[in-house]
Amino acid sequence: QPAILGPNEHGIDPQLLSPNAVRVTQALQEAGFKAFVVGGAVRDLLLGVKPKDFDVATNATPEQVKRLFRRAFIIGKRFQIVHVMFGQEVIEVTTFRGTSADNAPKDEHGRVLRDNTFGEQHEDAVRRDFTINAMYYDPATRQVLDYHQGIADIRSKTLRIIGVPEARYREDPVRLLRVVRFAAKLGFSIDPHTRAPIQVMAPLINNVPAARVFDEMLKLLMSGQALACLQQLRQDGLHHGLLPLLDVVLEQPLGEKFVTLALAGTDQRIREGKPVSPGFLFASLLWHQVLEKWTAYQAAGEYPIPALHLAADDVLNTQTEKLALQRRIASDMRDIWAMQPRFERRIGKSPYKLLEHPRLRAGYDFLLLRCASGEIDQEVGEWWTDFMAADGPERDALLSRKP
Ligand code: ATP
Ligand code: MG
Repeated sequence: QPAILGPNEHGIDPQLLSPNAVRVTQALQEAGFKAFVVGGAVRDLLLGVKPKDFDVATNATPEQVKRLFRRAFIIGKRFQIVHVMFGQEVIEVTTFRGTSADNAPKDEHGRVLRDNTFGEQHEDAVRRDFTINAMYYDPATRQVLDYHQGIADIRSKTLRIIGVPEARYREDPVRLLRVVRFAAKLGFSIDPHTRAPIQVMAPLINNVPAARVFDEMLKLLMSGQALACLQQLRQDGLHHGLLPLLDVVLEQPLGEKFVTLALAGTDQRIREGKPVSPGFLFASLLWHQVLEKWTAYQAAGEYPIPALHLAADDVLNTQTEKLALQRRIASDMRDIWAMQPRFERRIGKSPYKLLEHPRLRAGYDFLLLRCASGEIDQEVGEWWTDFMAADGPERDALLSRKP
């Protein structure tokens, strides 16, 4: 039986709710179903933070959900969820899942390959990852249903996995990454039992499909607390094996300053609500690998520009597979890298041509990182800042004044 908390006990500010999430729960309830806001949104509401997206859990099947809304799409083959669209906003509706983990098909390491049975609400709560992610909020009654003492953990700022930690990590090793991500993002401490097995079990991550690890890693990097996350991973001795990308980053010690600045910049942009491109982020994380190979190709007699392209190819060929980087991201990365030597050619028409590059802004931001990390002279970045801000005649003057 869940603990039930009223508005005075949980203190959720209804203003922070998305009106569309309320529309969804209302429509489902009017049709006779149970429906709650669930998971991360309830956690954030309890913390007084405006959730960035809303999930709804219900006992209606995906087909039944779909019928109630004009713009609703069933997504996913094995475990279907419904996306209910309101303009730009998507409310994700899932049917309560059952606790089928015991007899579900698993791989040889115990990872659950499929759990696609529907279940009761209390079962749905058990199969969520952390106590703070397993609460349900009913906008109609304004009650919170708390199955696993999530409220107490919110108050003591504790991240606690539901059930036996080893078993839960084995079922789904992605949870090893999620612990660290949430702890850093929320500033929570990890309960000792939840923490203890992480280091030993970390290698299980290697058996998870790269695309899933990538999604979780992207969430970590885009959490606004990426630097804190990575520092925590390192401090906990989790930086080997848990995150393929992290191994790559740490393999290039000369790039540490660059990576630190890049992550700090990304964190700040995210906290200010500005957009961040994954291409820029990954281009930064892998830049010093590119630099190393670029130097090597030049030492072997290649001209600078072809050498850079060869270096980019090498890095992308190994990393796209290892990290499951999407093609579009990889092509953004290549653009950003390829622009760099062009910033250093400040003669004739070349700077004017570069001004027309569709990715100029990203390339320029990247250039500034290279300056800030000490890789190239500050003066180059300052010159471009002036050149981009200048008008026609001023630009010509800058070109002739160039040191
Ligand atoms: P964020 O704000 O970062 O999106 P979130 O809690 O909403 O955090 P999601 O990945 O969007 O995280 O997942 C939504 C919910 O689904 C979680 O709150 C949790 O209840 C459940 N969940 C997600 N991933 C897992 C997992 N690997 N194992 C168990 N439950 C999970
Ligand atoms: Mg979410």
